[in-house]
Amino acid sequence: MASVDQSDSKIERSEAEWRELLGEERYRVLRKSGTEAPFSGELLDNKAAGDYVCGACGEPVFKSNTKFESGSGWPSFTAPVGKAVEEITDRSHGMTRTEVRCAKCEGHLGHVFPDGPGPTGLRYCINSASLGFEPKDSKE
Ligand code: FE
Repeated sequence: MASVDQSDSKIERSEAEWRELLGEERYRVLRKSGTEAPFSGELLDNKAAGDYVCGACGEPVFKSNTKFESGSGWPSFTAPVGKAVEEITDRSHGMTRTEVRCAKCEGHLGHVFPDGPGPTGLRYCINSASLGFEPKDSKE
């Protein structure tokens, strides 16, 4: 029997497993780098305190105290949680952008742009379909 790896190593599943686990829309966004329609996401207007977790693997990726109203139509944050995300150059669709992925499962979360508010000046533009939300009592 294979040993169970309890370390911080990546989560890997087959595409068929992800599709089964996530359902069509989350699979399209998280595994195929899709984008949800603006102003359509469930978490866009969420103002509760808590952790935004990767919609594929459950790893906390953003905190509510970094969320801001960008007007873009997607949940927006000024900073990710620690090393929870990876940033990768994305040259698709004739643009050069920086893609944001979950470091744990490589799920596509969204993109980061250098036009956010202080203190980072960054805008992490994240699909609601790529996220889950776990409420917490206080905004730490
Ligand atoms: Fe993940």
